[in-house]
Amino acid sequence: MTLKPKILDVIACPLCKGKLLYDKNLQVLICKFNKVSFPIKDGVPMVAAQDAKSITEDHSKRSAQ
Ligand SMILES: [Zn+2]
Repeated sequence: MTLKPKILDVIACPLCKGKLLYDKNLQVLICKFNKVSFPIKDGVPMVAAQDAKSITEDHSKRSAQ
């Protein structure tokens, strides 16, 4: 299941209206401003405020090593 890249042009973060990043590995959309991720179900991004999940510190830990 791949997400069409173009969909990222029309989807914005519901919290800050910023651009979302697509994480292929985790299959989520990420807002780096709010540090939240949104799930993608059946190729459909769930970008409602209530779907936002805080990104764990795993990411920053990994990149810091
Ligand atoms: Zn945001």
